[in-house]
Amino acid sequence: MATNKTPKKSWRKRTLAVRSGQMRSAFQETSEALFLTSGYAYEAAEEAEARFKGEIGGFQYSRFGNPTVSMFEARMAALEGAPVARATATGMAAVSSVFLSSLKTGEHVVAAKEMFGSCRYVIETILPRFGIGFTLVDGADIAQWQAAMKPQTRLLFLETPSNPMLSLCDLKAVSKIAEAGGARLIVDNAFASPALQRPMEFGAHIVVHSSTKYIDGQGRALGGVILCREDFLNEHLQQFIRNTGPSISPFNAWVHLKSLETLDLRMRAHCENAARVADFLAEQKKVTRVIYPFRADHPQHNLARVQMDGGGGVVTFEVAGGKAAAFRLANALGLIDISNNLGDTKSLLTHPETTTHQKLTPEARAALGVTSGLLRLSVGLEDADDLCEDLDQALRAA
Ligand SMILES: *Cc1c(COP(=O)(O)O)cnc(C)c1O
Repeated sequence: MATNKTPKKSWRKRTLAVRSGQMRSAFQETSEALFLTSGYAYEAAEEAEARFKGEIGGFQYSRFGNPTVSMFEARMAALEGAPVARATATGMAAVSSVFLSSLKTGEHVVAAKEMFGSCRYVIETILPRFGIGFTLVDGADIAQWQAAMKPQTRLLFLETPSNPMLSLCDLKAVSKIAEAGGARLIVDNAFASPALQRPMEFGAHIVVHSSTKYIDGQGRALGGVILCREDFLNEHLQQFIRNTGPSISPFNAWVHLKSLETLDLRMRAHCENAARVADFLAEQKKVTRVIYPFRADHPQHNLARVQMDGGGGVVTFEVAGGKAAAFRLANALGLIDISNNLGDTKSLLTHPETTTHQKLTPEARAALGVTSGLLRLSVGLEDADDLCEDLDQALRAA
């Protein structure tokens, strides 16, 4: 590998997003290369032996190492301020690898109950099959985290801002509780992305991402990332990933690697548009509630300003008239798509009660605040005036 620029310690986030992690090949390409290869050849049998023994570096097999994937991991680590990163096929592969690589029978997890549906399935349904217990808490209530801790607690898990209610967890306070209990705090940072929030600066031990969302940012490829310290990688993750194979395709890693170069610019534009749309919605008679972390009426607005560099691209709101009105609004949209995905350049609207949160019991939904009139809008990068006009005419139909 030749002619990489030597990274400087003083490089700022935007420079790291464009320059960090690059490994140029002998061709000195300016743009990072896509190494679409499963395997690697050795000059001699002795070299293969030495690489397998770990005596010399170099790649062996793309299930556990690939140059394009390594570049993506190095750039993610630089942006999150994490010692090491491992990329996975999806966000859920990242989450489940953290749990399954490190927990054993008899141990215990504490998690904020407002979380992505599949994360809840892993904690509530898969872990108990292996004798791993869990306690769900209201993530905003620090006393509940404290009360849920047991001597066997090894991992604390939370998502901030959460889906779809955009409630926040105090990262400093929860990481202190984890530390005092000899446990690790895992933060799902998919909604904020490293451009808006770097949980390790507030004490988180592990960060997981669905890079499918804002890191790709254009709705193309699935991916996930685990960021952690060397001890967790060496004791748990490395051998688990190597031997169970949740690996990301080099192609998807390449898409997400190149997307990181524009992440900061895109997130600023998402935040600007989302703030405009949130303010517009708050003025509408048929809208009974607007939730956006950087609006002064968000109950944790002060915490949002401390932990985040922007309010994010998602706005959640409630229309009067329940499910029927929410459906009329969704069906009247002429620009915004109905889709349960988020973090795309295209604005996407979903009705959580009947889609992402359908599998919860009515009581569990009520406890989260997921009402029949609630809608989650992932605000894209279209012109904010066009988005407001579309919502305006759809609200009249509702
Ligand atoms: C989408 C998402 C996931 C799962 O990611 P996939 O890439 O779809 O597997 C996990 N957590 C949050 C907060 C998400 O939005």
